[in-house]
Amino acid sequence: MKLDRGRLVLVAGAGGFIGGHLVRYLQSQGFGAIRAVDMKPVEDWYQQAPGTEQWTLDLADADNARRAVSGCAYVFNLAADMGGMGFIENNKALCMLSVLINTHMLQAAVKHGVERYFYSSSACVYNADKQKTFEAPSLKEEDAYPAMAEDGYGWEKLFSERMCRHFREDYGLRTRVARFHNVYGPWGTWYGGREKAPAAICRKVIEAKIKGKHEIEIWGSGVQTRSFMYIDDCIKGIDLIMNSEILEPINLGSSEAVTVNQLVDIVEEIAGIKLKRNYDLSAPKGVNGRNSDNTRIQQLLHWEPDTSLRAGLEKTYHWIYDQYLARERGDAGVVRESFAASH
Ligand code: NAD
Repeated sequence: MKLDRGRLVLVAGAGGFIGGHLVRYLQSQGFGAIRAVDMKPVEDWYQQAPGTEQWTLDLADADNARRAVSGCAYVFNLAADMGGMGFIENNKALCMLSVLINTHMLQAAVKHGVERYFYSSSACVYNADKQKTFEAPSLKEEDAYPAMAEDGYGWEKLFSERMCRHFREDYGLRTRVARFHNVYGPWGTWYGGREKAPAAICRKVIEAKIKGKHEIEIWGSGVQTRSFMYIDDCIKGIDLIMNSEILEPINLGSSEAVTVNQLVDIVEEIAGIKLKRNYDLSAPKGVNGRNSDNTRIQQLLHWEPDTSLRAGLEKTYHWIYDQYLARERGDAGVVRESFAASH
């Protein structure tokens, strides 16, 4: 089935990183009726989307979820309380409360006869025992069980994706679930405590360059491995999965694993700088190794990310650089808009 571009689409979490990009993408694909919802006031959204309905609602509330979903044929649920390791390790209860969002959104979707429902799960659902080595174990979809997810955030994701399955089986709601592996790119969180490794490293390198203090603090030993997916590849993948007949949760990530040290090497190269590295072994660092096994998505959708880590980081670095300078000057909004106009 192909989504009908004339029907009303809801993007929940539209004021955030991935939701903001998704709204813009859907507009570019000719969707004429988009309802963008987030709990943040619209002026704080990472990207504005003129021509769409932009609503501020707390979707953890059942009445609000029903209001948001009413009249929509399709729902993309990207709303969640989330962040990098520093955030999720210290806010487990808050992360688990996102279960209220997905629960109320699913109930509202059944009540209002939604035709297709997308849920954004995470690589944090995978069993921790399978991620003990630093050699970037590639995680296949079945590696989520037996369940031993990331405490707090990962358990909520695993429960919510399972709830999608049972709403499909018991109530006939057509749910689609993707497990994102570290998404990065412009318009992502880059400071404040919720940022993830690529943005945090770009910011630290930029700060070192601008301030002339040629040192960087790295969380952990630097040899942990991860893969990172550029935002454009993620959005394309969401589109393919939503339009597919894939019923079970599926990996959506890059299979190009790197160590944190390698990530720093690339950002240093882009910045044209070399920094003294200080490792903070007591900082939150997550599992030792994790990579996305893309066998299933390649087989079913012929999808593989187009953007190399180097190319994606280059765009992200320059965006954060402009944001950093603008923030120092106190005019971040102006830069946001001029970047939007030129990209
Ligand atoms: P984000 O924090 O930038 O966006 C999430 C948005 O949800 C925020 O704007 C937030 O205000 C909104 N939100 C939170 N609680 C809400 C509520 N009660 N009602 C309405 N809106 C609410 O995060 P993101 O990176 O865009 O992530 C989007 C989704 O993808 C999330 O479900 C996240 O868990 C998942 N995910 C992201 C990554 C990644 O690397 N970015 C990886 C795995 C999974």
